[in-house]
Amino acid sequence: MVGADQTLRPFLWRAAKLHPDSEIVSRTARGIERYGYDEYDDRTAQLANALDAAGVESGDRVATFCWNHHRHAETYFGVPNSGAQLHTINPLLPDHHIQYIVENAEDRLLFVDPSLVEKLEGAADSEAFESVEQFVVMDEAVPDTSLDPVTDYESFVGDQPTDYDWPSLSGDTPAGMCYTSGTTGKPKGVEYTQQMLWGHTMATLTPQGLAFEESDVIMPVVPMFHVNAWGIPYSATAAGAKQVYPGPAPEPADLASLIEEEGVTFTAGVPTVWLGLLEYLAENDADMSSLERIVIGGSAAPESLIREFDEEYDVEVLHAWGMTETAPIGTVSHLKSKMDDWSKEDQYEKRGKQGLIAPGLEFKVVGDDGEEVPWNGEDFGEMYIKGPWVTQSYFKRPEANEQDFEGEWLKTGDVVTVDSDGYVKIIDRAKDVIKSGGEWISSVELENALMAHDEVAEATVVGVPHERWQERPVAFVVPVEGTDEDALKESILAQIREEYPRWWAPDEVVFIEEVPKTATGKFDKKVLREQYDDESLVAGSVPEEAAPDEE
Ligand code: AMP
Repeated sequence: MVGADQTLRPFLWRAAKLHPDSEIVSRTARGIERYGYDEYDDRTAQLANALDAAGVESGDRVATFCWNHHRHAETYFGVPNSGAQLHTINPLLPDHHIQYIVENAEDRLLFVDPSLVEKLEGAADSEAFESVEQFVVMDEAVPDTSLDPVTDYESFVGDQPTDYDWPSLSGDTPAGMCYTSGTTGKPKGVEYTQQMLWGHTMATLTPQGLAFEESDVIMPVVPMFHVNAWGIPYSATAAGAKQVYPGPAPEPADLASLIEEEGVTFTAGVPTVWLGLLEYLAENDADMSSLERIVIGGSAAPESLIREFDEEYDVEVLHAWGMTETAPIGTVSHLKSKMDDWSKEDQYEKRGKQGLIAPGLEFKVVGDDGEEVPWNGEDFGEMYIKGPWVTQSYFKRPEANEQDFEGEWLKTGDVVTVDSDGYVKIIDRAKDVIKSGGEWISSVELENALMAHDEVAEATVVGVPHERWQERPVAFVVPVEGTDEDALKESILAQIREEYPRWWAPDEVVFIEEVPKTATGKFDKKVLREQYDDESLVAGSVPEEAAPDEE
């Protein structure tokens, strides 16, 4: 005898029964909209009926091209629970990637935000969209558009019944799909089955995960097109918590006002979002007293960010690591109880790491020689990971499967150390590590050091080719307004020379207005590398004493 399969439907069923009045709040172009879990459940049933009426069948892929709002959240349950597969597309990708993704996934129906219709029109004007039979605009009316055939969401679901005979699905039914951001080569499709999302949800709920309570007010700022908004629409529903969706392209002022007005206790997003919010808060009054915790991931959270939220706003930052391939949560940096009476400094040091493996997953760290490296906080290697919500293959990409997997293990491409307490620290993306004169330099560490500087708003470090040392670090720095750049440069370099080996000091500090970002809000080092073309970096420009072999 075995139990029923692990599927998403019971999470929403329970929330609708136990917490019918707990709200789903959504910032839309028409203002703030809100309803309870009972209506959320009714509307997902209407959506499932509408999908049936549109001819969508079990196993078909239904795509979204949307920001974070209640209608998008309805597709999160309505599509997979009816047996179809929800494919969330990142609208910030270039058109040729969007075309590749839609063609590869063979999406049959596509939901699009009104504010993204124009962007989609550009991409959709292509044979790659042949499989798409209908577009549905996430609004009450259809704008003037070349998308065809097209309807609006409220008309699409409007007359449908509010109950639905949910099928009994097996755990291995494909439920979700998301493509990796494809900074190198074409995006790769990752499928999430019902049971992968169920496992991820349950782990997220634990105290070792994000520990959601029914009393929490949870605002995912991380886009719903980026790995299911880190699973929050599922885990917040499983907890029966109030949810706040910040709508299209929220600015720091929008986030501050939602936190204040809706009493947000928990939020989530990439570091740049929170750097922006801190900058806004430094100049504007906003009541952040409801906010208790922020999970930050997607790229390394600078320790200075963790410290500032703690010291200025009494907000606990949970630093987490994950990937599209891991659905995404893999590690979360919680302190162990034995660390409660440690000094703040020692605690920050641990909390700045990417943290402890989530319960249910396993990992190992493999060195250049193919052997596992010891957990001593110093030896590093590539992190391999496996578990119930880690994918074991890419969609229709045999060549990538061969390269990125070894048996059940996913080779993450992240270079890490693990300390004797088990805290994982990402040293770099394998391709971003700077190799200078045979020694490795961590671009992530240098970025952390730079962003800890009061006069630095944002900074990134890339390796540029160098004849003698193979590669040397160059820092790209966005100074805080009104800063004297020469003095800042000197003080940055002095600080790095003091804290790190001398050859880690960047050869050059280039001041820029903004660090270019990828479609998922990470620093786009590829663009900077391409833009960087400075004769001064050819051989000989590095001071001799910068060489590692002369230390
Ligand atoms: P994506 O699949 O777009 O979510 O990107 C996954 C990659 O983002 C990981 O393999 C890491 O290189 C990076 N990443 C995610 N979280 C963190 C973090 N907390 N610190 C450093 N890098 C991270």
